[in-house]
Amino acid sequence: MSKYWSDLAHGLDPYTPGEQPKDQGLIKLNTNENPYPPSAKAQAVFSRDNIEALRLYPDPESSLLKQSIAQFYQLEESQVFVGNGSDEVLAAAFQAFFAGDKPLLMPDITYSFYTVYCSLYDIDSCEIPLEQDFSINLAQYCTEAMQDNGGVIFANPNAPSSLALSLAEIEQLLLRNTESVVLVDEAYVDFGAESAASLVNQYPNLLVVQTLSKSRSLAGLRVGFALGNKALIDGLNRVKNSFNPYPLDRLAERAAAAAIDDVDYFNDCCQKIIATREWVTAQLAALGFEVLDSKTNFVMAKPGAIAAEDLFAQLRQHKIIVRYFNKPRISEYLRISIGTDQEMQALITAIKEILA
Ligand SMILES: *Cc1c(COP(=O)(O)O)cnc(C)c1O
Repeated sequence: MSKYWSDLAHGLDPYTPGEQPKDQGLIKLNTNENPYPPSAKAQAVFSRDNIEALRLYPDPESSLLKQSIAQFYQLEESQVFVGNGSDEVLAAAFQAFFAGDKPLLMPDITYSFYTVYCSLYDIDSCEIPLEQDFSINLAQYCTEAMQDNGGVIFANPNAPSSLALSLAEIEQLLLRNTESVVLVDEAYVDFGAESAASLVNQYPNLLVVQTLSKSRSLAGLRVGFALGNKALIDGLNRVKNSFNPYPLDRLAERAAAAAIDDVDYFNDCCQKIIATREWVTAQLAALGFEVLDSKTNFVMAKPGAIAAEDLFAQLRQHKIIVRYFNKPRISEYLRISIGTDQEMQALITAIKEILA
């Protein structure tokens, strides 16, 4: 608290990121980072010449990167927006599309940044409970009472619940909700769900947001993007050019483009993580855990024989950090990011020791 703070700063309810421990000896399964390095082609961008070029401002349009993304998704460059992490892309979208007095519809359990942005931008929200099985029921977003909304946002797959909606379910929502923007946050889509990117030509109010932080191993680079109708992208550009016209530095733009272009490496990494996830899910189930049907690079797992919070603390003593949420409905679960096979083997060994 300080007398120098604005009323806005006083009233905020900031996001708490997962711990980034200074201790290097830990197995870090708490923030859904990718255990594999970024594409070698992305690494090659950090050359002497490219570093020397940092004296120049970057391309404010990040055209090179937008072209790579547009090509990957078979869209036009004018249908792509890029930002400093998808968190920044989301911020621009909240300001461009949701800053009205009608409530923004979202699941009650989802990425916690959405309510943080609602408080920052003074947007009303309406939180719709997940079903008993933690799935999102989009029919509840289309009832008479929900018609007059200021937008819809959800993550697909959702976090931290890890479950995915089908494209058909999302299309049903888009057919019924035509008067406000529907934002689908696809941070984890590459690990087994269907992207709604294929629908942006048909639905002018659909905005798909993705990140290079998870499936392309570039959390430290800070690059995210949005896909949508040109008019939506123009709206995002108006916000961006009123805040920071250069959100991506020269190295970030080029490395991100190289990572997007390296399709084979991307597919390999995703396949490895999916295979490891299925292995861990079976191992945890055999140890009496209830594991949700994850389509992400993490699992939500409820231990049978020990309280989740207790297991979280004991894993930490075994130098393994996972994520525990002290929140209603999910406090019996641990969110465990998928690491390498060796890391997950170490996790299972530690859990066996703790349960013994
Ligand atoms: C990780 C994550 C983000 C943020 O990604 P950045 O691009 O690293 O800012 C956004 N949404 C969800 C659901 C996430 O899990």
